[in-house]
Amino acid sequence: MKRVYIVPHSHWDREWYMPFEQHHMRLIELIDNLIKLFKTDPEYKYFHLDGQTIILDDYLQVRPENREIIQNLINQGKLQIGPFYILQDAFLTSSESNARDMLIGHRDSKSWGKHMVHVGYFPDTFGNMGQAPQMLKQVGLDTAMFGRGVKPTGFSNSTSPEDNFSTEFSEMKWVGPDNSSVLGILFANWYDNGKEIPTDPIKAKAFWDKKLTDAEKSASTDDLLFLNGSDHEPVQMDLSKAIRTANELYPDIEFIHGNYDMYIEQLKKDLPKKIDEIDGELTSQETNGWTTLANTASNRIYLKQWNTKVSKQLENIAEPLATIASQKTDFEYPHDQLRYAWKWLMQNHPHDSICACSVDDVADEMITRFKKSNQVGKFVADAALNKIKGQLNTNKIPHNLGEIPFTVFNTGTSNKTGTVIAEIPIKKIKFNPNKDSSEKIYQALKNENTPKYTVYDDQNKTIPAEVLDSKVKFNFDLPKDKFRRAYIEKVIHVKILMENMKPVSWKTFKLVPLNIDSKVLQKNSMIHDGILENEFLAIKFSKNGTLSVTDKQTGHLFKDQLCYEDTGDLGNEYVYRAPKNSRPIFSSDFPNKIVIKENNSFVGKVEIKVKMRIPVSMNKKLKEEQEEHLDYRLRTAQRSGRFTDFTIQTEVTLEKGSRRIGIRTSFDNNSMDHRVRALFSTGLQTKEHYADSIFEVVKRPNSVSDKWKNPENPQHTHSFVNVHDKKVGVTISNFGLNEYEVDNTGKQIAITLLRSIGEMGDWGYFPTPGAQCLGQSVVDLGIAFHGSNEESRLQTFHDAFAAQVPFTIIKDEWNDGKIETSGCFVNVPSKEIKITAIKLQEDGNNVITRQYNLTNHESHKGFVIGGYVPYKSNILEKQFDRETANLKLQPYEIHTSVWRKK
Ligand SMILES: [Zn+2]
Repeated sequence: MKRVYIVPHSHWDREWYMPFEQHHMRLIELIDNLIKLFKTDPEYKYFHLDGQTIILDDYLQVRPENREIIQNLINQGKLQIGPFYILQDAFLTSSESNARDMLIGHRDSKSWGKHMVHVGYFPDTFGNMGQAPQMLKQVGLDTAMFGRGVKPTGFSNSTSPEDNFSTEFSEMKWVGPDNSSVLGILFANWYDNGKEIPTDPIKAKAFWDKKLTDAEKSASTDDLLFLNGSDHEPVQMDLSKAIRTANELYPDIEFIHGNYDMYIEQLKKDLPKKIDEIDGELTSQETNGWTTLANTASNRIYLKQWNTKVSKQLENIAEPLATIASQKTDFEYPHDQLRYAWKWLMQNHPHDSICACSVDDVADEMITRFKKSNQVGKFVADAALNKIKGQLNTNKIPHNLGEIPFTVFNTGTSNKTGTVIAEIPIKKIKFNPNKDSSEKIYQALKNENTPKYTVYDDQNKTIPAEVLDSKVKFNFDLPKDKFRRAYIEKVIHVKILMENMKPVSWKTFKLVPLNIDSKVLQKNSMIHDGILENEFLAIKFSKNGTLSVTDKQTGHLFKDQLCYEDTGDLGNEYVYRAPKNSRPIFSSDFPNKIVIKENNSFVGKVEIKVKMRIPVSMNKKLKEEQEEHLDYRLRTAQRSGRFTDFTIQTEVTLEKGSRRIGIRTSFDNNSMDHRVRALFSTGLQTKEHYADSIFEVVKRPNSVSDKWKNPENPQHTHSFVNVHDKKVGVTISNFGLNEYEVDNTGKQIAITLLRSIGEMGDWGYFPTPGAQCLGQSVVDLGIAFHGSNEESRLQTFHDAFAAQVPFTIIKDEWNDGKIETSGCFVNVPSKEIKITAIKLQEDGNNVITRQYNLTNHESHKGFVIGGYVPYKSNILEKQFDRETANLKLQPYEIHTSVWRKK
């Protein structure tokens, strides 16, 4: 007998074509109605809360008095909650964000009791990450449901054996790169296939005849799933009647008001022995290419930059510092504060939010959330640093009067080379704002002579440094036990080179005043005869503004690095679409000016300035086509004949000891409806390339499938994209620039720096003037090269990771303490491993690390934390009994460890 499972739900986009509170107030109405319905209709059994626990928080924020009612409904299993905190986009949120969504969602679900839905729920996610099967398995879920990423059938619902994309059924086996597998269920007829079910027998017959046929086409069993509800759709109040009608109309079918757990339990019993297998990430690569929605990675890039910054602040700065402080001092790890910060960040992670396919009000509110999360992250980091500061044994370093200690931290989990500007107070005068004249103190400090300084490390060796300037400024302390203390201080800014600093390590230095007339020896500078050079790379600046770089390790010359390309865009926040027959405009066709900005023994910086002329916008036709909501593929608007200046300033920086060229690009955008990309020529011929994805260096084919119609093939990355052949390779890194494209042959990598568009783009006309991104932008990129061995390639990946995490500085005092002046918290001898989390256990006080294998083979070496024993754990931070003394990782393995003190 056929069973039809009707699962009522509402797919809750928290913000989208309306701002958050507009959706929020509708949610209150929805839940209020639901409470009424559960009270009055005994046949109304279940409602699925869209897989995200935040819906409960959102409701109780407005109706706190209904907590008990909600709790009772959950206890009875009527409200179906969890497993995630929020329905986040998979590709634009960091690996840790994806893990924390599961961890925090699971924790919140548990706090409501045990009625958690056992489904990895990705109904609307814009493509699904390849590591989802492994991650779901780790949180105890063996089923995933999703609406996108894979097509179950070919065109016109036909299946053909040649279509390697096709799975015959909407049920499939989804296998991750590590071979973990889950049951995958595709919403083949979308997650609203059972919305608004008629109660009237005639209408109901017509409805079900069609719907049943559609569902049967892709179902592998007699268990059919219908989702009663759509995007923020109110509850269907007469569903029970509609189900009664259906049961009367079709005596040989059982229509059940069900839930996902019931459906899946039955489905698993009835599944055919063999169902098709799909592998890795599901990004609709076998479709016509118009619906991957990957271009959401390049709209409103400022939001993506904020996201990278705040993710790093929490994952790689606040948590590691709080962990170190908790292990080495009496610092109490601020579990609640960090969870609070994470929740603010994750509220920006739903697909309509971080994908920024929303109206301007949504983007504005996101900035506030990013700032809130970042503020808490900074508070936690400062609190931890303050504890560490008092405990560093700086007195162990021999020092004289007038010398000042300071400590540099690499809180990131990759080794890092680069310069850092430290602001060091050299004199401080406290004052009482009600009594003393701050102006007098300010002037006195300003008039005092500032000594020259040099920098020594804790082994008493001088290190490459340059004092930039001094400044007098107001500052204050907020002691834990006293009223605030104001002071005026004189600070100096000193730029120092940190060479190959180990992961999660620190080092103390001292500023040593020089005699007034002693000269700082300026040894050989890095730029000579127009070439910017260090021990690894030599950069020549071509006349057309591009770079020619020789990798001294391999002797290989990489020409034509960094040309800017401008094209029109008549698409929307979801999809980029170039106007027909229009040609790109290249920066290399305009005159440029090259100026040396910095040139000493440890850093060379060159500025390239080019003034391009580009159209002011698309012509008037675009507005008409937008207003009549003409499909972007059919639009005929062209770029305007009026032109404006588009000036791009590029700073090319190379530091001593660094294999990575830093690129900082600034521009003031006065033009609308266009896209700007940076192009890098690899000069190589390859079939595939590699990118930084979620807990995975993912291998992607350069070419598209034969069904692909979109002239573009945009892809996602977090920190790098790499193209290599057997001998050499190029790695382009970025900060918050999540969209790239590699051409069919692998010879060019393009990174999108700006996409200016004027409309949202889905189901109607929603203008988005804010998405034109007018005004000043600054974006960061990097170029690195490697040879044939894997280790040199992995090093370029670590350089990309490291570039996203700034150094942290403590302004020390001379004191006795327990913490050594040089140290590292973890010891990672292998480049094959990337650590993504260093934190304390959510509900405990053991150290947690999460690490994954960057390669497709077993890692050769593990890593250690001195004085601790690792135990196997999982994303939920459960500790298993098994010690894992040697943390070698299997191919593509994501491994969480609980570390207990020996
Ligand atoms: Zn959605």
